[in-house]
Amino acid sequence: MRAVVVGSGICGASIAFELAKAGHEVVVVEELNGPAGGVTSSAMGWINAAIGVEPEENPALYALRQEALEAHYQWGRDFGGDWPFRQTASLIWEKTADETECFFQKHNQAGAAIRRVGAGELKRKIPRLRDVPEYAALLERDGVLDTVAATELLLKLAGSFGCQALFNTKIIGILEENGRVSGVRTRDLTLKADALVLANGTRMKPLLAPLGIEDPVDVSPAALVRLEKVLGFSLEEIICAPNVEVRQLQDGRLQVAEDAVGLNEAAVASKAKAGLLATFNDLEGRLDIESVRISGRPMPRTHWPMTHRAAGFDNLWTFVLHPGVILAPLAARRLASEIGFL
Ligand SMILES: Cc1cc2nc3c(=O)[nH]c(=O)nc-3n(C[C@H](O)[C@H](O)[C@H](O)COP(=O)(O)OP(=O)(O)OC[C@H]3O[C@@H](n4cnc5c(N)ncnc54)[C@H](O)[C@@H]3O)c2cc1C
Repeated sequence: MRAVVVGSGICGASIAFELAKAGHEVVVVEELNGPAGGVTSSAMGWINAAIGVEPEENPALYALRQEALEAHYQWGRDFGGDWPFRQTASLIWEKTADETECFFQKHNQAGAAIRRVGAGELKRKIPRLRDVPEYAALLERDGVLDTVAATELLLKLAGSFGCQALFNTKIIGILEENGRVSGVRTRDLTLKADALVLANGTRMKPLLAPLGIEDPVDVSPAALVRLEKVLGFSLEEIICAPNVEVRQLQDGRLQVAEDAVGLNEAAVASKAKAGLLATFNDLEGRLDIESVRISGRPMPRTHWPMTHRAAGFDNLWTFVLHPGVILAPLAARRLASEIGFL
């Protein structure tokens, strides 16, 4: 079976790897001149199971996220340590101790690897913390992924199973024959496909509309702010505090994620700086912004965080995930087995 995958972000690379490993002929087609040039390059890379999901409201989704987190550990083992995932844990606190307690209780009851970290331990861990909370919740299994390195690795591994990657190649149409997808076309070539996976994030609409398929993706703007290394400042864990979500890269630079609805780059940069200054001491005059990138996160329109088979076609899939980096390994394994039944 020949599968064509459109897009080489974390989603496209993950499904290409799983399909190629399963023995299928796979072609990845990417408009840019290399992999991971889309929103994947702007992700925070926080791999967690508990953020943005309420265990009591949606236990199935909570279980999925736990499984997705563990899938990163599995790829760590499968790839002999090459999977660029690092277990760092994350420290989370809310505006009040009661809110932090509530967060702790619900995730503890749901079985997450979580513990309380008191003010003394917090001060030792983060000596520059400004207003030390009574305690924080520490999610022990959380970690970080270098999303660009991960995407490149997956495509390299897919290549070792025979997957071909075509860069600088934009797909402009889907070919249909007798109610089935038969391939895709670029400006000057056509590619045959027995199975077609659209993993092109927020840009599916122009490909799906001619087939009468509704766009399955909403776009949610978010920003990644990178700041230069501050001498003497270090963070082990990802910090998710009332004013800031920050992690430190291995070379010492800081990375802050911000919602960016209605904000331009300058406003996002000031928000990130203000959040850091409100949370840590001794940073005044020492924060230098390296880059600000506002990107549109692809969000499945369904209540479920991944979309799959496109309505009316049995060999066309829309592979959209949110949060995409966290879910990609698990979702790709599941989708590859579904496609394998074609
Ligand atoms: C600030 C920020 C922080 C984030 N933090 C996290 C996080 O901590 N954890 C997490 O899980 N997620 C996070 N995300 C979300 C995550 O980045 C996305 O869910 C994920 O990267 C989506 O990957 P993708 O492969 O679907 O899309 P993309 O990376 O955008 O890949 C799509 C690719 O398709 C290509 N393409 C598009 N149209 C065509 C065409 N017609 N022909 C050929 N190629 C085409 C594009 O060039 C692109 O390379 C964050 C996002 C942002 C912006």
